Amino acid sequence: MNSIYVDNNATTKVDPKVLDAILPYFSELYGNPSSMHSFGGSNGQKIRQAREKLAALINALPDEIVFTSCGTESDNTAIMAAVNSLPEKKHIITTRVEHPAVKNMFEHLAQNNFNVTFVPVDKRGRLDLQYLYDKLSDDTAVVSIMWANNETGVVFPIEEISQVLSKKGIVFHTDAVQAAGKVPIDVKKAKVDMLSLSGHKFHAPKGIGALYVRKGTRFSPYLIGGHQEKGRRGGTENVASIIGMGEAGRLALEELDETSRQMAKLRDKLENELLRRVPRSIVNGDTANRLPGTTNISFEFVEGEAILLMLNEFGICASSGSACTSGSLEPSHVLRAMGVPYTAAHGSIRFSLSKYNTEEEIDYIIEKLPPIIERLRNMSPFWKEAS
Ligand code: PLP
Repeated sequence: MNSIYVDNNATTKVDPKVLDAILPYFSELYGNPSSMHSFGGSNGQKIRQAREKLAALINALPDEIVFTSCGTESDNTAIMAAVNSLPEKKHIITTRVEHPAVKNMFEHLAQNNFNVTFVPVDKRGRLDLQYLYDKLSDDTAVVSIMWANNETGVVFPIEEISQVLSKKGIVFHTDAVQAAGKVPIDVKKAKVDMLSLSGHKFHAPKGIGALYVRKGTRFSPYLIGGHQEKGRRGGTENVASIIGMGEAGRLALEELDETSRQMAKLRDKLENELLRRVPRSIVNGDTANRLPGTTNISFEFVEGEAILLMLNEFGICASSGSACTSGSLEPSHVLRAMGVPYTAAHGSIRFSLSKYNTEEEIDYIIEKLPPIIERLRNMSPFWKEAS
């Protein structure tokens, strides 16, 4: 069997239809969309079509989409645009479980005279909404809350929060990088001012992102340069990847019901079987409110990294946290915020599925993983003590 890729929250395979759509733009169709001649100008038309397709994915207007280089740039741009547009306000709010693209930006601002509130989550990773609402004040410039968590898949009630914030005139940004293409997103219902997207999480290439900016939102560019993106993001457009992201967005919308049903079914089988076969295994996160393809399971008294290495020998690619935190042996900040005990946080594995995973692959993981945990536990003095 080839490798079994269940690390789709880290990145996804480019859909072959997306690849077909973009290949000509690396070779014969290399024009600059800003050029006066039609060779370049026709690429401008292609970008407009991509903008329309991506807007449809989240029910936005095409002009509300600004293409960026990645989810991180979208997040940074949104937060800086919000604080720059309200220079007299010095209070900013986010959660304790954001991706580093938001978390580290808030920590950076905390060192630059901003007063930051990090909203806590409960044991199941659910946001403490009352805490959030109690902290809102006239000095609050922006609230940034992710739509879905990359490590646990827990989905936050963005629509509900937006109703409170829009009445107070506080800028509301959401990082929907993990949610897009997996759950429905409608910016007419969830009245966010800005929303971040990243192409490589839904079968477009890496290195392309987008920021939704609601019409009328005060905005300042993060990359200052040419007139591209109506002056909202300087830099010659990544034509091929923009076209790819548009096509991937179109496919994601078209396939949403079917793929989310399929992913949830396979995820549930994987989760239920692992919980049944492996004693002292626990699901991290609110199982009632999760992305369809994500499960984060702690196997107590084993190291996640050791599990990953052994899975890797069987060609199984999973993750022990977000891609950005793996490589460090510190338990993830998300699991720590949820109060997951140390012995469980260290042995947590994230499986994240895509439309390409099959039942055969899930059966293979179910067969291979329990003996790995048993072997590792047999080597662990802590396990012997606990069992
Ligand atoms: N936000 C979330 C929730 C993510 O999961 C990621 C990537 O893992 C990002 C932002 C960053 O996206 P990008 O890799 O496109 O910069």
